[in-house]
Amino acid sequence: MLETNGPRLWDSLMAMAEIGATDNGGSSRLALTDEDAAGRALFVKWAEAEGLSISRDAIGNLFARRAGHEDVPPVVIGSHLDTQPKGGRFDGVLGVLAALEAVRTLNENEIETRAPIEIANWTNEEGARFTPAMLGSSVFTGAMALEDGLAREDASGQSIADSLQATGEAGDTPLAREYDAYFEAHIEQGPVLEDNDKTIGVVTGGQAIRWLDVTITGKAGHAGTTPMPVRRDALFAASAAIVAVEDYVAGIDGLLATIGEFHVPHGSRNTIAADVHFTLDLRHPDDAVVDAAIEAVRDLLENIGAARSVGHALSVHWRSPALPFDDSCVRHVRDAAQALGCSWQDIISGAGHDAFHLAKHCPTAMVFVPCADGLSHHEAESIEPEHAKHAADVLLNAALARAGRI
Ligand SMILES: [Zn+2]
Repeated sequence: MLETNGPRLWDSLMAMAEIGATDNGGSSRLALTDEDAAGRALFVKWAEAEGLSISRDAIGNLFARRAGHEDVPPVVIGSHLDTQPKGGRFDGVLGVLAALEAVRTLNENEIETRAPIEIANWTNEEGARFTPAMLGSSVFTGAMALEDGLAREDASGQSIADSLQATGEAGDTPLAREYDAYFEAHIEQGPVLEDNDKTIGVVTGGQAIRWLDVTITGKAGHAGTTPMPVRRDALFAASAAIVAVEDYVAGIDGLLATIGEFHVPHGSRNTIAADVHFTLDLRHPDDAVVDAAIEAVRDLLENIGAARSVGHALSVHWRSPALPFDDSCVRHVRDAAQALGCSWQDIISGAGHDAFHLAKHCPTAMVFVPCADGLSHHEAESIEPEHAKHAADVLLNAALARAGRI
């Protein structure tokens, strides 16, 4: 098994972190700002030193290609160099620089491949400056129209089109080019690998997500004159419903429920709450489990509504299906982790990644490595240097197996 150069990868990670470095050890390179452009320029300098050919597409996705023996669709490896406003040093950056380290290792060992290997840096993955997140990969794969992407504006009213103009990051490489496969290495951004003492997560896909809106409707009344038995209190009913949701979720392995917003319109301390709205985010690797959960929530609202004489409404605001990665690509990742002697486990991604858009475009898989305390989107984001090397090793060997060593 081919192995990458851990210290060289770490040096590159630390050099990239200096661009937009924050006071507390993080990085700030918002998409298509001067800092992001400087980070991209450093990457391009390194890629050109490896003899890679650089190209960009109309939304600013940046590619560095290593030719193969055959002029066939490339095996693509990468992630994103943009960060949150006070982001960490590894979210996204690890995937791009592990890909660069993989190519450096191929060059150093004079290994040729049948298919080209291309590094991708996707524009505006974070969604911090422009919404939505994963914008560059969604335009590339056609999930979002180019005109729509270019028109997105930041808080100051500057559009992506303006920012591409200012940074010179747009090019004419065609969108939606054919890819043979896509592999992305990323920090886990959660605590599972660390808790299980594993160094590699073989990501088998993304989980199903449903966003629900719930409204409970009772009747307003005077806090001092309305006897408890005749009240139709929407807030006590909503509280009972929320506790019942938590009880239901506790009984189902892997099901996640989050109530992120809760509103009591026209609330007043001496008036019985007439209306309550809350959101519910449900996630699980299996679509059937989240759909069953929606029915369970409907039933418990029905029961609580009947018992407390309140009305209720439940609607599904957004539905994102579970997304399994490609079996053969997942197997390349698993085989590489096993052959390299890494401790590994299969894992489902809790967060969104460019790989989810790519998975609809070509066979795709991901590699996770642990980050300390599962902390991410934070300046204190931290990983072990040896885990960074393992990520690059697994990425390299999985891509090499797919691209075909000559
Ligand atoms: Zn990321």
